[in-house]
Amino acid sequence: MRPARRFCTALAVLLLSLLAACGREGSPPVKGPKADQLPVYHVATGFQLPDSPTWQRAKSRGHLVVGAKEDQPYLGEKDPATGVYSGYDIEIARMMSASLGFDPKTIAFRTIASANRETALQNGQIDYYVGTYTINDLRKRQVGFAGPYYIAGQSLLVRKDEKGIDGPQDLAGKKVCSAAGSTPLQRIQRDYPKAIAVAYDTYSICVDNLLSLQVDAVTTDDTILMGFAAKAPDELRIAGKPFSKEPYGIGVPRGDTALRFALDDAIEAHEKNGDWKKAYDATLGLSGVPAPQPPPVDRYPAS
Ligand code: GLU
Repeated sequence: MRPARRFCTALAVLLLSLLAACGREGSPPVKGPKADQLPVYHVATGFQLPDSPTWQRAKSRGHLVVGAKEDQPYLGEKDPATGVYSGYDIEIARMMSASLGFDPKTIAFRTIASANRETALQNGQIDYYVGTYTINDLRKRQVGFAGPYYIAGQSLLVRKDEKGIDGPQDLAGKKVCSAAGSTPLQRIQRDYPKAIAVAYDTYSICVDNLLSLQVDAVTTDDTILMGFAAKAPDELRIAGKPFSKEPYGIGVPRGDTALRFALDDAIEAHEKNGDWKKAYDATLGLSGVPAPQPPPVDRYPAS
């Protein structure tokens, strides 16, 4: 390439990236959770869980430490100004806290990326994890799962003007971004080997890469992609239909069956008393998808 040409190409890429960034900043923010419509969870009094080492440790500490995501609109978002976390997964975490006898206001949230969830639970860095965490057998060898409390499905996010991608079958030769350590990345690598998989720590980095034309698509759960599409409705859209089932669970340390069963009880109780639907409507429901029937909890035996 001639130097002048190379300079022009570089300039064009820079301008496009800037444009993409501007478009994002300038577009309306996703409607936040309607604080006044969020349920107030009843904090259990006199609750005890002597068989759970995790609960005992939290009790002596005085509050729970919960792992979550901080960049997933409607699900787990951290306000950069206040440090406050909000979204559907955050509400699930708060309900669980109330049922375990800890005021949800006292939860210390820690942002943990997809690839680091199992280690964070194994190292005792967090008491439990709520963040679009798919239950599967491979992960069950490393951690425990209460739930499921919701079922998502893998989808694709593309630029609005994309003509060639309508489903995973169209990904051959295309650059597809997902998060390291996630089930959607594994599925693309396993079932669509002709796609060029690109992995980053978070989906928001993938979305930045999509906007600046570095990748052709972002793949993960529909729940997550809907939030990003809502943030940049003029630039992004979801392509095709979901092509997997992603049952969301609450991750707990593997051996702590007492905690897992207590959380299963809590999920069922909050589904029954209406908290679950109220929380969904005020958060993930803002993406336009009405509250589904919650899936049955899978109280699998200890192994
Ligand atoms: N639910 C998928 C997973 O657990 C994708 C979302 C995520 O990375 O949190 O891997």
